[in-house]
Amino acid sequence: MAEAAQKTETTKTRRPPVVAVLGHIDHGKTSLLDKIRQANVAGKESGGITQHIGAYEIEAKSKEGSATGKITFIDTPGHEAFSKMRSRGVGAADIALLVVAADDGVKLQTEESLKIIQEAGTPFIVVLNKIDKENADPERVKKELGDRGIFIEEWGGKVPLTPVSAKTGQGIEHLLELILLLADLENLEYDPALPARGVVIESHLEPKRGNAATLLVREGVLRQGDWVLAGRSRVKARIVENFLGKTAAEIGASSPARVVGFDSVPAVGSLFTSFKGQKELEAAFEGMASSKEKQEEVKAEEGKRAIPVVIKADTAGSLEAVEHELKKIEDGTFTLNILRSSVGNISEDDIKLAASGESSLAAGFRVKMAREAGELAERFGVGVGVFDIIYELVDWLKRELEKRLPEEKIIKILGEARVLKIFKQEGARQIVGGKVESGMISEGKRFRLLRRQFPIGEGRIIELQMGKMRTKEVGEKAEFGVLADSEHEIVPGDELEVFDEEIKKKKLL
Ligand code: GDP
Repeated sequence: MAEAAQKTETTKTRRPPVVAVLGHIDHGKTSLLDKIRQANVAGKESGGITQHIGAYEIEAKSKEGSATGKITFIDTPGHEAFSKMRSRGVGAADIALLVVAADDGVKLQTEESLKIIQEAGTPFIVVLNKIDKENADPERVKKELGDRGIFIEEWGGKVPLTPVSAKTGQGIEHLLELILLLADLENLEYDPALPARGVVIESHLEPKRGNAATLLVREGVLRQGDWVLAGRSRVKARIVENFLGKTAAEIGASSPARVVGFDSVPAVGSLFTSFKGQKELEAAFEGMASSKEKQEEVKAEEGKRAIPVVIKADTAGSLEAVEHELKKIEDGTFTLNILRSSVGNISEDDIKLAASGESSLAAGFRVKMAREAGELAERFGVGVGVFDIIYELVDWLKRELEKRLPEEKIIKILGEARVLKIFKQEGARQIVGGKVESGMISEGKRFRLLRRQFPIGEGRIIELQMGKMRTKEVGEKAEFGVLADSEHEIVPGDELEVFDEEIKKKKLL
């Protein structure tokens, strides 16, 4: 009886808070994240972090020992694509930190961040940074916040505010305590019996290992060997690593997991789910593709690439006309993130705003550009163009966008073969025998070399033979001989995963 009752109960377990950092450019978000990491990821281990994978974990210890615990920080790069990524950051987070520089106060992006936080309903802490500066003016910031309806605890409101210096480290320990206290109130839990679900927070093609993504687990547990569907990208998660790059057998809720080997690069912001077997994954994938409604959901979920744009024009009327034309350019795979659309010449401030996003553009219609703005644009790599004819502006924008939009790499697995015998090895040229286990393999195609299921390198099929006959392809269950070209020495038992890769360059008409 007792056992039966237990089985139906969920086994909720506490999980650490996930924290996102938002705020105006230059107010110290990156410095704060760096300082917290340096001070709290144990020395030997932090030396091991060679690359940012989009999130890191710390073990916070207060001097008094009143609050200890793990915290995960979403560590978005400094010049992260504007509000889209930030809003994802909040969606993926339990707690937000709104960083406001005490010497600069509430600015445009502070207000935008506040809006995102409030819309997401995420509890937040105001982090008053740069408190070490001579011209720091905390009272002014508190008043500016109050003017926008944010009432801090000190003034009888609900929002905690805490002063820090990301430069000296002052106040950071207290900030971590506050985060843990707030997390306590939130009662954060997960069910370890469930499959993993969460969000893709970073992804790219690793030259040596293939398509990689950082998955932030929000529910359940991700285990090595699980099948993962992230947006429309699939993988059997043979390689699962923690945020330090160390192999992990499993990764629980609130922790980031690095997973390598996806069949395409998963879109940042897309959702992921883990499955015990390939069949379940394929069923979910097909279910997704068969329903139109779901398809649209997937599209939205995949998170379109947002290109930040600043538009300036001579009159409100022409501004409207430009915006109208720009709307037509968007094509379902990307959007234009209009950071600013206003009347007037292109100023230094416009360029600074544009530079807060990645791959950004600034377009002017019947306006001038200040010389300093032009210089700044060059320095920050912001593409600028000024035009008197709207179609020229639109055309210019399309060409610039084509340069900025990523090439799409589509990897299709054709077949898998097991290596049974080695005949001859001379450097990279190797003659081996094997058997096709699934699909088919053919001459000229590339393959991934897997050893005990781990990808260890790549190669190419130069020639194929069946019996003593040269052949172009070998089908399922057939034995074959192959002349392969691979930097890695092939040994019996290895698997050849033969694939096709298509690269599509973006073209806007
Ligand atoms: P982000 O754009 O919000 O990520 O800001 P950064 O972390 O890049 O910081 C912008 C500038 O402010 C850098 O030059 C930092 O060195 C400086 N900075 C950040 N935090 C502090 C601080 O607490 N005190 C002082 N004096 N400077 C800071």
